[in-house]
Amino acid sequence: MDLLRTSISKNYKLYITQCRRMHLLKKQAYINGQWVQSQSKVLFPVTNPANDSVITEIPDMDAHDTKHAVQVAANTFQTWRDTTAKERSRILRKWFDLCEKNSEDLAQVITAESGKPLSESRGEVAYGNSFLEWFADTARHINGEIIPSPWPNKQILLTRQPLGVVSVITPWNFPFAMITRKVGALMAAGCTCVIKPSEDTPLSALAAAELAHQAGVPKGVINVVTASRKNAPAVGQVMCEDHSVGCISFTGSTHVGKILYGLAAKGVKRVALELGGNAPFIVFASADIEHAVDQAMLAKFRNNGQACIGANRFLIHEDVYDKFVKEFKARIGSKCILGPGTKEGVTCGPLVNLEQAKKVSGLVDDAVSKGAKVLAGGKFATELGNKFYESTLLINVKPDMNIFTEEIFGPVATCLKFKNEAEALKIANSTRSGLASYVFTKDLGQAFRMSQKLEFGMVAINDGILSAAEPAFGGIKESGIGREGSLHGVEEYTDIKYTLMSGLDK
Ligand code: ADP
Repeated sequence: MDLLRTSISKNYKLYITQCRRMHLLKKQAYINGQWVQSQSKVLFPVTNPANDSVITEIPDMDAHDTKHAVQVAANTFQTWRDTTAKERSRILRKWFDLCEKNSEDLAQVITAESGKPLSESRGEVAYGNSFLEWFADTARHINGEIIPSPWPNKQILLTRQPLGVVSVITPWNFPFAMITRKVGALMAAGCTCVIKPSEDTPLSALAAAELAHQAGVPKGVINVVTASRKNAPAVGQVMCEDHSVGCISFTGSTHVGKILYGLAAKGVKRVALELGGNAPFIVFASADIEHAVDQAMLAKFRNNGQACIGANRFLIHEDVYDKFVKEFKARIGSKCILGPGTKEGVTCGPLVNLEQAKKVSGLVDDAVSKGAKVLAGGKFATELGNKFYESTLLINVKPDMNIFTEEIFGPVATCLKFKNEAEALKIANSTRSGLASYVFTKDLGQAFRMSQKLEFGMVAINDGILSAAEPAFGGIKESGIGREGSLHGVEEYTDIKYTLMSGLDK
C-alpha cells in the first residue's frame, strides 16, 4: 500500500511538473502580440532528435504570412522608435528576469528539440539571458557626438537612430541564445523585428517570445514566423527584399549567408552575418598540456561539436604532439558520454538531424580513405539511435582532406603536427573562414604575435571558451560581417545621422 502511495505521489509530482513546463511549449506563430496559425493552415512537425518522436506541430508559414509580419513590425516601429532608452531598458530587464525565473523550463524545451544535454541547455539559457541583461544596460549608453565644427556659428551633431525592422534568421545549434543576442541588441537600439527560427528548433524561439509577451514587450515589437525548410527560401526572400526591412541579421551556414547577402544587396540593406568557422587550435611546445587538453575538450565537444566557434583543426607542435594526442584520447574516452540529452550524466547528445549526421560521417570516411587514422570513435553508435556519432579523434590529417577545409560541425577532432610558428600560422590562416582561433603558449611575445597575425575575428590565448555578452563576437573573411554582443552589437542596428545646426548667430 505504501509502495502504491509512493508511486502515485511520484507520478502526480511528475504530472504537475510537466503541466507547469507546458506553459512555454507554444504551438502557434507569434505576430502582433497574438498566437496565430498560418494563412494556409498547413502545419509541420518538430521532432526530438534523440528518438524522432514528434514534440508538436506548428504553422508552416509562407511569403504571405511573412509580408504581414513585416508590415506589423514596420507599423510598430513608428511608435517603438520613440520610446525612451530608459523604457526599453526596463522592458528588457523584465524579459531577463522572467527568463531567469523560467530557466529550467527553457532548458527543457531546448533539449527536447535540439538534443543537447540538459546541463548544456542550462548553460545556453544562462548565456542567452546574459545578453538580455547586458542590452538592458547598454540601451542607455547609445550616445551621439558633438564634433567641433570647421565653421563659426554652426554645430555638427551625430546621433544614432534605429534602422527600422530587422529580419532575424537563426540556426538550431543555440536556438535560444541566438535570439536573445540579436533581439536584445536591436530592441535596445529601438528597432522591431521578425524572427524566423530554424525549422529544427522553433520552439525555443516561441518560448522566448512567450516570456517577452509576459514581460510586457509591446505587441508587434517581436514577431515570430515559423516555417519548414521547404518554405524557408520564400520566407527569407520577403525578409530580405521587403522595403520596410532595414537590416538582415543572420546566423547560420556560409552558403545560406551568401544567398541572403545577395538578396539584401538588391535593396542595399544592412547585413549582420555570423557564418561558419574553421577554427584552428594551436598548441605550442611551451604550453601547459594538461590545461590545453582540458580546454580542447570544451572547444571541441561542447554542443557535440555543433558550434561555429568549435575547434576544427588541432595544430600541435611536434615536441608535444604525442603527449597531447595521448592525453586528448584518454580524456575523450573518460569524459564523452553519449546518450539522450535528458539522461543524467550524458555529455554528448545526438546530432541534430540526419543531414548533419551524414555530413559528419562522410567527412570522417573521406579522411580515412585518404590516410587519416582513427584513434577514437569514427562510427555511429547505432545502439542509441540513428543520429548518435561517437566522439572521434583522427590523426595523420592532411590539408587535401575535406575534413581539413570544411567546417565539421560535429564531434570529430583532427590533429596535425607542425614544426615552428611560421608553419602553424600558415596552416591556420589557409582558410576562407575567419571566426574563432585558439592558441596555447606560455611565451608572451608569441601570444601577441599570434593575436596580431591570425586572420580571425577572435583569438583566445590559453582558453577554449570565449563567448560572453561583453566582448564583440564576429568573424572576418567568409565568416561574416558585423559584431554581436558588446556596445558594437547595438550599434549594428543603428544609423549615424549627421545634423548640421547652422545659423546659430541669428
Ligand atoms: P544550418 O546548416 O545550421 O541549418 P542554415 O544556414 O542551413 O544552417 O540554416 C540557418 C537558418 O537559415 C535556418 O533558420 C534556415 O531555415 C534558414 N534558411 C535556410 N535556407 C534559407 C533561405 N534560402 N532563405 C532564408 N533562410 C534560409
